[in-house]
Amino acid sequence: MNSQLKDHREIGRELDLFSFHEYAPGAIFWHPKGWTIYRTLLEYLRSITNVQGYQEISTPALVKSKLFEKSGHWKHFKENMFNFQVENEMYSLKPMNCPESTLVFSSKTRSYADLPLRLSEYGILHRNELTGVLGGAFRVRQFTIDDAHIFVRPDQIQQEIDNLLKLVIEVYKSLGFNPRFYLATKPDKAMGDQKTWDEAEADLEKALKDSEVKYDIKPKEGAFYGPKIDIHIDDSQGRDWQLATIQLDFQQPESMDIAYIDKDGGKKRPVMIHRGLTGSLERFIGILTEHFQGTFPVWLSPVQAIVLPLSDKFTAYAQKVAKELESAEIRVELDNRNETLQAKIRDSALQKIPYALVVGGREEETNKVAARTRDGKDHGQMTVGDFVKKIKEDIDKKS
Ligand SMILES: [Zn+2]
Repeated sequence: MNSQLKDHREIGRELDLFSFHEYAPGAIFWHPKGWTIYRTLLEYLRSITNVQGYQEISTPALVKSKLFEKSGHWKHFKENMFNFQVENEMYSLKPMNCPESTLVFSSKTRSYADLPLRLSEYGILHRNELTGVLGGAFRVRQFTIDDAHIFVRPDQIQQEIDNLLKLVIEVYKSLGFNPRFYLATKPDKAMGDQKTWDEAEADLEKALKDSEVKYDIKPKEGAFYGPKIDIHIDDSQGRDWQLATIQLDFQQPESMDIAYIDKDGGKKRPVMIHRGLTGSLERFIGILTEHFQGTFPVWLSPVQAIVLPLSDKFTAYAQKVAKELESAEIRVELDNRNETLQAKIRDSALQKIPYALVVGGREEETNKVAARTRDGKDHGQMTVGDFVKKIKEDIDKKS
């Protein structure tokens, strides 16, 4: 890492985004500004999946361990889970949302015509990592995945994987990244028979070919219950991150005994697809923080514009400008400290606020603002309405 570059913990401190405390190792305390980034990212992810037929659910964090025994996770994953006795029974904090999503699936009779059923969930997950390996937002014990479980008929796998690859490409493009694809195949420690694995791997490979994306193979790196497509990006520092994943699962519908009623009236097993676009949101925001070095694009910036009155005399006008921006849903602050304009401009640039709007006598007379960007560029005077139009363009373009 270039020594000039800062890590997300340092940037998080300087920009007042989040902090870490010894009382909760491996968990993030989100401050108002960091939580604004988190919520903005989440709203974006919701907005694009809601139009693609996803329905959001929420399931309990604390469940009886026997659910994970049934799903098969206990055998492969219990060391990574927080398990403890409540009254006379073992309970676990969920390390993943999958088994519970199957309970929602089987809460009523599902017909072949109900599929695909796409259930998204942003549930809080816990995994037991050793204290020694915890590190900022990258290795945590408590996190949230932008998770979804899609229940499909076998004949729908291909189309659904195609849709998902398109979705991944769209999301990453809009965030300014070029995704790379890998097909991860059967590991040594795997559940299920060879034929099912071969078919599943062939399905994923066909979808990759149909989508005309370049991909490589990751031999034996699939999940224990099925093969997967891993999606990687490179950040501004040339580091490789695995974020999104699309996993085919033939085992969990079996172990959780879920079924749909087929055309012929018979019971059939659906196939389950697990997918995350960003993976852990905590880790993803950590990566974005370092990728942008705190200079978040306008749409993600916790404060998008700051109004800087030249002196006390213009506080009332500055408040009026700030109010107008607020009602246009721009995240705005007002700096009416008793400091020089130079100091205020410098501080707003250090806080990486995209726009500083200077207001004095001339601006008040003409109902305008003098806009400058954090890179020091002067954009001249414009009406508040024109400024709103300008910043909305930035927000829409995600620039
Ligand atoms: Zn899952």
